[in-house]
Amino acid sequence: MTIPKTPLIFVATSDLAGKLRGKAFPAEQLNKRLQRGVGWTPTNVQINCFDEIAESPFGALGDLLLIPDARAEAKAEFGEDSGLHFIMGNIVTLEGEPWDFCTRGLLSAALNRLHSVAGAHLVAAFEHEFQLKGAPQPVGQAYGHGGFSQQRDFCETLVDVIAQIGLKPDSIMKEYGPNQYEVVIGPEQGVRAADAAIMVRELTYATARAYSEQATYTPIRDVASVGNGVHIHMSFVDDEGVPLTYDANGPCGMSALTASFAAGVLKYLDAILALTAPSVISYERLTPHRWSAAFNNLGFRDREASLRICPVTAKDPTSIARQFNIEYRAADAAASPHLSLAAVVFAGAQGIEEGLAAPTPTEDDLSLLDASELAERGIVRLPQTLEEALDRFVSNPVVTGWFSDGFAQVYRAHKQSEIKKTAELDTDARCRLYEDTY
Ligand code: GLU
Ligand code: MG
Repeated sequence: MTIPKTPLIFVATSDLAGKLRGKAFPAEQLNKRLQRGVGWTPTNVQINCFDEIAESPFGALGDLLLIPDARAEAKAEFGEDSGLHFIMGNIVTLEGEPWDFCTRGLLSAALNRLHSVAGAHLVAAFEHEFQLKGAPQPVGQAYGHGGFSQQRDFCETLVDVIAQIGLKPDSIMKEYGPNQYEVVIGPEQGVRAADAAIMVRELTYATARAYSEQATYTPIRDVASVGNGVHIHMSFVDDEGVPLTYDANGPCGMSALTASFAAGVLKYLDAILALTAPSVISYERLTPHRWSAAFNNLGFRDREASLRICPVTAKDPTSIARQFNIEYRAADAAASPHLSLAAVVFAGAQGIEEGLAAPTPTEDDLSLLDASELAERGIVRLPQTLEEALDRFVSNPVVTGWFSDGFAQVYRAHKQSEIKKTAELDTDARCRLYEDTY
């Protein structure tokens, strides 16, 4: 007997909880849905990552539309089963205006701001670390061929489906931590870079399911080990696609645009961290000596920096200019990639607008410096709890000014419900809760 099935398409938004939520409709309705979307509810934005609803200014009121964007479709086959089929959408008001809490709309606004201050388009690639939840691998598998071979089939399928949906697989490896892997894709321009990050995460979960495994993108599973970072590589091009990131005579190869962008990101980093590292346990990862990010410093090829100037392998000037990129390392997958990238781009654009000078890369161990030595060098230890990060966000008028009135308060209320849910738990219990969520 064949079991009847109607193919469905899921239209999705990557929300403040960093979750992918939406509704499915019969695939044959696609043309209609591309115009009209599906109904959406304002208070959904206050559903936290544990499916609890935080205090919401909207209550039961209001209606919105979630409209699929035909350019952001992900469809992949996994053998016999129905596979994965979703389309990223934008949340708009009934009048068709972008909704203030749609992360995809916020990213578009940030990218427009960057273009208006610098004539630049952003090109970005996300590097993702995750862990498989199966039995712990024996020690000695860090970057190991053994650890990789154990999941070679999984890796080959994941890379295959990434290519199937039209993204560019770059590399995949057994990372340092237990059962930890890293998947890297090639750069994409504009909003598509964040859409691609969502797609890679969903493909990872789906591939794991196909192999009866479970994947987690939680920021950290075990504080005795390393975290799962999301590193965002960024470069800039002009309207004609000419690279704008590199200048052979600039500081560490940075063009004036890149230097001011980097300075803006570092200046506002403590205030945007609540958006890019937004879970309670994100702050267990952002500690010194974990190769994550603990200070608002620029590193020249240094993996202990929040922002890193990456090496280029090219030799000829044109290819160098195209490859040259900076990497934001203070993000994790509890954040919507759209919101994370929006925050970083707003900060960078602000730095360009303020004409900030190139930051000086650090080369020493900043964790050995005391508060006055840090202050002398203009370096800030990043917030060490989500509460502290939220305080820095809501109390920075420049940063809250990038968003609509009330956005910061709604975001804080959302995150406070998450803090409350985990308040009574010890660190291990918190980590377990989050690894089931992301
Ligand atoms: N796992 C580290 C992090 O949490 C990154 C290690 C690396 O440099 O790839 O960001
Ligand atoms: Mg890595």
